[in-house]
Amino acid sequence: MNGNLNVQTENIFPVIKKFLYSDHEIFLRELVSNAIDATQKLKALSSRGEVKGEMGDLTVEVVLDKKTLTIKDRGIGMTAEEVEKYINQIAFSGATDFLDKYKDVQENLIGHFGLGFYSAFMVADKVEIYTKSYKDAPAVHWSCDGSPTYEMVEDPKHTDRGTNIVLHIADDCKEFLEEHQILSLLKKYCRFMPVAIRFGEESNWVDSETEFDEVDDGNGGKTKRPKRVERKQPRIINNTDPAWRKSPANLTDEEYNKFYHELYPMNFEDPLFQIHLNVDYPFNLTGILYFPKVKKTIDPTRNKIQLYCNQVFVTDSVEGVVPDYLMLLHGVLDSPDIPLNVSRSYLQSDSNVKKISSHISKKVADKLEEMFKNDRKDFENKWDDIKIFVEYGMLTEEKFCDRAMKFTLLKNTEGQFFSLDDYREKIAPLQTDKDKNVCYLYANDAEEQHAYIAKAKAKGYDVLIMDSFLTPHFVNMLEQKKEKSRFVRVDADTVEKLIPHDDAIPTKMSQEDQDKLKPIIENELDKQRFTVQMESLESDDQPMLITQSEWMRRYKEMAATSNGGMNFYGDMPESYNLVVNVNHPLVEQVLNEADADKQKQLVHQLTDLALLANGLLKGEALTEFVKRSVSMIG
Ligand code: ADP
Repeated sequence: MNGNLNVQTENIFPVIKKFLYSDHEIFLRELVSNAIDATQKLKALSSRGEVKGEMGDLTVEVVLDKKTLTIKDRGIGMTAEEVEKYINQIAFSGATDFLDKYKDVQENLIGHFGLGFYSAFMVADKVEIYTKSYKDAPAVHWSCDGSPTYEMVEDPKHTDRGTNIVLHIADDCKEFLEEHQILSLLKKYCRFMPVAIRFGEESNWVDSETEFDEVDDGNGGKTKRPKRVERKQPRIINNTDPAWRKSPANLTDEEYNKFYHELYPMNFEDPLFQIHLNVDYPFNLTGILYFPKVKKTIDPTRNKIQLYCNQVFVTDSVEGVVPDYLMLLHGVLDSPDIPLNVSRSYLQSDSNVKKISSHISKKVADKLEEMFKNDRKDFENKWDDIKIFVEYGMLTEEKFCDRAMKFTLLKNTEGQFFSLDDYREKIAPLQTDKDKNVCYLYANDAEEQHAYIAKAKAKGYDVLIMDSFLTPHFVNMLEQKKEKSRFVRVDADTVEKLIPHDDAIPTKMSQEDQDKLKPIIENELDKQRFTVQMESLESDDQPMLITQSEWMRRYKEMAATSNGGMNFYGDMPESYNLVVNVNHPLVEQVLNEADADKQKQLVHQLTDLALLANGLLKGEALTEFVKRSVSMIG
């Protein structure tokens, strides 16, 4: 019987080719998943007793020949009426509508929109179907060369139940006749499909039982050793029962790790821990999300979260489905409720997708809170690796932020960890300023800011280590959420002013003398970068020191990590304060020095020492400083 495909299809073949050009490898996913579906249906019928007898080997086979690629299954097959209904008639209903609607967003198409079977024409100029239904009906041979006409005949030669789809690969698609190409596509799309899939053969080297080599036995004699022989085995390319489909109760941490390495064979490090997702209602979602060790280097291009639909790989770009702050997690998500046929912006406004995203966020908060409560030590050990997720999450998701307030940790320079509330309680007695603000002191580099940390500690203050690139945003957020809290980096001011109390240190130098001294010091400095600030510190404190205003620095850093750095503050040059301790004897000596050259040299030496302590003295200035110091000692 010959016939015309549904009239709407007149111009659909060129459209298929054009619209899906960039994605045309998905034909294999479509055809193999049809084969898997047909097999699953047969199993279901058999388990209900509607198909009698042995089902036989149900492995789906992908076979390459010189000019053809064939997908074979032993599933339910189709009768002539079913081919007419599902292939000739139904295939395109809705397809034209769809293409009309999404004309503008072609690039965003993920594929998979019910063109399923017909995606074969993206790579083949002729497609044949040999199919025999499990029902008592003759087999059918259907073929179509891409024009809107097809041929369909009964085929008594074909007696095996199931379907073979034969693709005659087009000349401009020859790569789909290469074994490595097909293997890599099968590995990409079909790796966890639920029915075994066989493709080609695999070499397996084993010790022969019948053939031997003669080799030295180490004692001057000869001995026999089994020959290594190559044994060809059919290659099964998939794991039909991936970990995310199992019940969490049946999985150990080792098994979770094993699955992690199966997903990412190139990643040798174990993940920190995982979250197993398993929801039926109001949407269906399974999956495992792994927290990797990130530390400071993160490579977002590798080991991405993979999205599946009933064990069929769809994509590894999960924007919208996974909250932003969790995009760097690893693992798999599997949901039939995520629309696959739409653009990204549409995806993000889909109500199921929104629910899935907030469910994931909630599960992550649950898990972290549980770890915080049940094994605090272990949670602390992992903190450095997970804090980046927590901080980012708190900054971007209101709900997550509220939950994380309970389990977020602060770490001090001694390596002790505290919850936000515990820490506040600990520091409040000594670190509350005259306006009743509790002042949190922090350093971002314990080595570089050693002198400042030491001074704060000498006063009995505690200093936190906050070294992530999100710190400026994070402390800003905490100040807003927690009333009467102030975060100050230890090098933001003199230790007296970091936490201002009422008891100011008395000044030994008169205002008149201070006014005289200030320009003398200013003359020796780059005025663009340094502002001279006269202060009364303890007389045994440093004569001069460098500070950098918390606000200036923080806004500059925030600008650098948001809006691509396009911000007013981001363009500002680094500026510092040079604090002059007017109570210090050496500063008094500068004032009293009558010899202008000597005075200059003394100021230079003191400012250089302050810069040196801050890591700001470099290059020629540093060389000069060393020279001058040596000559002064002499
Ligand atoms: P979809 O799979 O999205 O329904 P397809 O165009 O891929 O769309 O397939 C249309 C229909 O053809 C399927 O729903 C199924 O009934 C039938 N079909 C396709 N491939 C097979 C197969 N290998 N075995 C049995 N039936 C098949």
